[in-house]
Amino acid sequence: MDESKDHLEQRCPRLGGPVSFRYCRISGDDVSACWKIFDCWWEVFDVAGYLNKHLPEDKFNILVNTEPKPKVVSLIELIEQAQKGAS
Ligand code: SF4
Repeated sequence: MDESKDHLEQRCPRLGGPVSFRYCRISGDDVSACWKIFDCWWEVFDVAGYLNKHLPEDKFNILVNTEPKPKVVSLIELIEQAQKGAS
């Protein structure tokens, strides 16, 4: 993986504070990139070209085809995970 972009920073709309590009490219499910990575970085550099070059094809395709989840679905999933963890 090319780490030359890792130091770039951006305000994360999910966390409400600055995060590095490195965080964005590993913070998704299965240690893949965050599903919002195209949205958040396209104005800064050619993030699609970068990920296409550096991610395995299957992971890139998953990322491209990931639909943003409505907030309520994310919340329900978090509650379910917490309940599983508690039992
Ligand atoms: S790509 Fe994800 S983690 Fe990175 S700034 Fe956007 S929402 Fe936050």
